[in-house]
Amino acid sequence: MSSSPISNEKELQSELKVLAIKAMEYSHSPYSTKRIGSAIRLSNGKVYSGCNIENASYGGTVCAERVAIWKAYSENKKPVHITHVAVASAEDSPWPPCGFCRQVLAEFAKADTTVILTNTSGKEKALLFSELFPFAFEPEHLTK
Ligand code: ZN
Repeated sequence: MSSSPISNEKELQSELKVLAIKAMEYSHSPYSTKRIGSAIRLSNGKVYSGCNIENASYGGTVCAERVAIWKAYSENKKPVHITHVAVASAEDSPWPPCGFCRQVLAEFAKADTTVILTNTSGKEKALLFSELFPFAFEPEHLTK
């Protein structure tokens, strides 16, 4: 965990990409052989990374994004939200979060959360969470 104020958006995104790529090193992915890394930044400025951790049961597998989110939410006072999420892979076309992770992100991100998809070759795509997951089922649906 580190702390990162948003003083320079480009610098912050660059830092998150580096952390996401570094997190790939720790991937436990003997079944898919796909190493994925993620880094998220919370509204309090703290940054967390995670990698995919697969399991022989398959159902016990957790994606890199959710590992980073669990780490962040288990170590911070609420309320906080995710301002940025970066996802890194070695795939030619940077992989986006899966549907399961998008739903988990909908719990903790905002419509204007920045999503950065990158790969080890330097390709990248940045978009808003509302573009990645429009018309998400959100906690507010249960309280309306
Ligand atoms: Zn996922």
